[in-house]
Amino acid sequence: SREIRLKSRPVGLPQASNFELATVDLPAPGPDEVQVRNLWMSVDPYMRGRMYDRPSYVPPFQLGQALQGGAVGEVVASNDPDFKPGDIVSSMFGWREYYNASPKALAAGGLGAITKLDTHGIPPQAFLGVVGMPGLTAYVGLLRIAALKDGDVVFVSAAAGAVGSVVCQIAKLKGHTVIGSAGGPEKVAFLKSIGVDHVIDYKATPDVVAELAKVAPKGIDVYFENVGGVHLEAAINSARPFARFALCGMISQYNETGKPEGPPNIIQAVGKSLRLEGFIVSNHVDMFPQFAKDMAEWIKAGKITWKETVEEGVERAPDAFVKLFTGENLGKMLVKLA
Ligand code: NDP
Repeated sequence: SREIRLKSRPVGLPQASNFELATVDLPAPGPDEVQVRNLWMSVDPYMRGRMYDRPSYVPPFQLGQALQGGAVGEVVASNDPDFKPGDIVSSMFGWREYYNASPKALAAGGLGAITKLDTHGIPPQAFLGVVGMPGLTAYVGLLRIAALKDGDVVFVSAAAGAVGSVVCQIAKLKGHTVIGSAGGPEKVAFLKSIGVDHVIDYKATPDVVAELAKVAPKGIDVYFENVGGVHLEAAINSARPFARFALCGMISQYNETGKPEGPPNIIQAVGKSLRLEGFIVSNHVDMFPQFAKDMAEWIKAGKITWKETVEEGVERAPDAFVKLFTGENLGKMLVKLA
């Protein structure tokens, strides 16, 4: 089985030389173990944080070891009576073609567990995107953290990505005015196709503060923050009193080697009684059942759609990962392994 290991810790934008492809001999599964052939693995921005050697809410990746991350695979052999060959499972054993693991030993691990997927006809890779962690992130951030309420005008950055595109669609299906920011004409066209009211192409018009003020003359009530920097500055500038910000991520800072760009107007958060609340999706997994039910209905009713950008082969995984930071993904970035 082939796997991708972290060879060195990236400085700035990750390079191919930070990764290495290794081949391991996988034994037959041991007692209580299943053997899984991964079909899909996810690359996600948070993985960049795990490449730094520093304490965080998830431990750092170790040099010389396979990376980890969300994956969906098929059980090929099983010594666990609850799993049989052909079962589709999700796990955190991404970045590799096959793995052996004990579902029982991992069961207590929440999002780290090996979970049998009842796909209901939804393509299995969607469990790494729209019906998986990114979809849940959108749902939690918008409905719980930002406490979306009637009439809110919603601003979303990285709006064409895995999380952002679900945020936009949930807000639209609930009848809100939505403003999305993304880079490039293809993303603009996609966002318009899913009903986003105003799209800011921040690469074409980098003065996001002015652009947002133009398209939201009365201001915004909710900001779903994925990017940081000038996007946060724009959102604060256009925030109406008691606006709610869900601070989901600030991807523009993840490769920053110097001092990150900060919103110089953050002080307005005090005067406007803004609530800027960070959150981590893994602390809100209690919303998963309701999320899964709603999402299944919305997909069935054609109210939610999604895009995927796919690279083929585990050896392409580092490239796929780096593309998250150069914006070459539309929708969920995935690696097809089999
Ligand atoms: P995306 O699918 O949105 O991919 C990343 C996108 O970010 C790119 O396509 C690119 O789009 C944009 N981007 C990258 N660099 C920059 C930059 N310097 N400035 C502006 N935009 C940039 O990824 P996800 O949907 O998986 O993640 C989106 C955000 O959500 C991230 O910040 C991530 O860390 C966060 N997140 C947080 C979670 C939590 O629990 N808090 C859970 C999951 C995700 P474009 O071309 O438009 O620039």
